[in-house]
Amino acid sequence: GRNFRPEGTKIKFANGVVVGGEEVVLMAGPCSVESKEQINLSAKQVAESGCKFLRGGAFKPRSSPYSFQGMGIEGLKIMREAADKNGLLVITEVMEISQIEPMLPYIDVFQIGARNMQNFNLLRELGHVRKACLLKRGIAATIEEVLLSAEYILSGGNYDLMLCERGIRTFETYTRNTMDVSAIPVLKKLTHLPVFGDPSHGVGKRDLVPALALASVAAGADGLLMEMHPNPDKAMSDGAQSLFPEQLNKLNAQLKQLAPIV
Ligand code: PEP
Ligand code: MN
Repeated sequence: GRNFRPEGTKIKFANGVVVGGEEVVLMAGPCSVESKEQINLSAKQVAESGCKFLRGGAFKPRSSPYSFQGMGIEGLKIMREAADKNGLLVITEVMEISQIEPMLPYIDVFQIGARNMQNFNLLRELGHVRKACLLKRGIAATIEEVLLSAEYILSGGNYDLMLCERGIRTFETYTRNTMDVSAIPVLKKLTHLPVFGDPSHGVGKRDLVPALALASVAAGADGLLMEMHPNPDKAMSDGAQSLFPEQLNKLNAQLKQLAPIV
């Protein structure tokens, strides 16, 4: 609850970036790490746009077992190099307990995906790790279920936790999910944790991403997690919702009008 830390949890990273402070922290990058060239170019563009974190999945939770499953640890190595070259921090998804240990040297934040929000054994294990985590809301999870999943990590002693609204499944099918912007102020009210918005998975269509990114920040988000690809039409996953680099630049300039941005 917020009464645990009325002023809110602040997470400090090695390069001086603070999540949960006065500034909104931007994280962007491709859905998946696909190759050295792709992640290097992505890192350069993400840094130039003013974001502080590079995102990119190396272990991918794909709806179909026949879709690209990610590059694994090899992908994390090239992502770390690309991030370091451009002064960025790394956020990437962990899918299972056995991946935690091998991932540790290469990453700054463990992303727990929507599909794993109730993988309680994974959450419990992440509670014992001394590395920041970002927990995404499950596709059909209530606020209470998000809070109880967060509790699995917190109760292990890991307080460096961020929550993330990424859209929920409703009767509406025009957008990929329904971005529940209201979850942002609700989670801010009920918890002391920094809250992020992921407008990319929230709407699933790149032309709608900027509106929901702006709405998330207006609603009080401490940061955004966004998909951007150097060549979205060739992306191996989530191309339709990935911003073009120029779109990310333009969006970040608009976000700066709304709130102080890191
Ligand atoms: C992702 O960030 O690429 C991802 C798979 O997100 P989610 O778990 O929200 O679907
Ligand atoms: Mn994705």
